[in-house]
Amino acid sequence: MTKRVKRFIAGAVCPQCGLQDKIVMYDEGHSSYRECVSCGFREELVTTTSTADKATAVDIQTVNIVGVSNKDV
Ligand SMILES: [Zn+2]
Repeated sequence: MTKRVKRFIAGAVCPQCGLQDKIVMYDEGHSSYRECVSCGFREELVTTTSTADKATAVDIQTVNIVGVSNKDV
């Protein structure tokens, strides 16, 4: 029972065919892959999911703090 959730990466450019917004990311087993839906390019990602989640959380917090500061001023 393998369930793949593919997510498009906004603004990502395929290194093989050069098209934008054609790259999807998905997890398979313990690895993450990115794949181009246009030309079939596929690559395993070395980055761990936990590290990516932490980086995203920090980015969101930073954006929120900046937004509140602008309203107060
Ligand atoms: Zn491609």
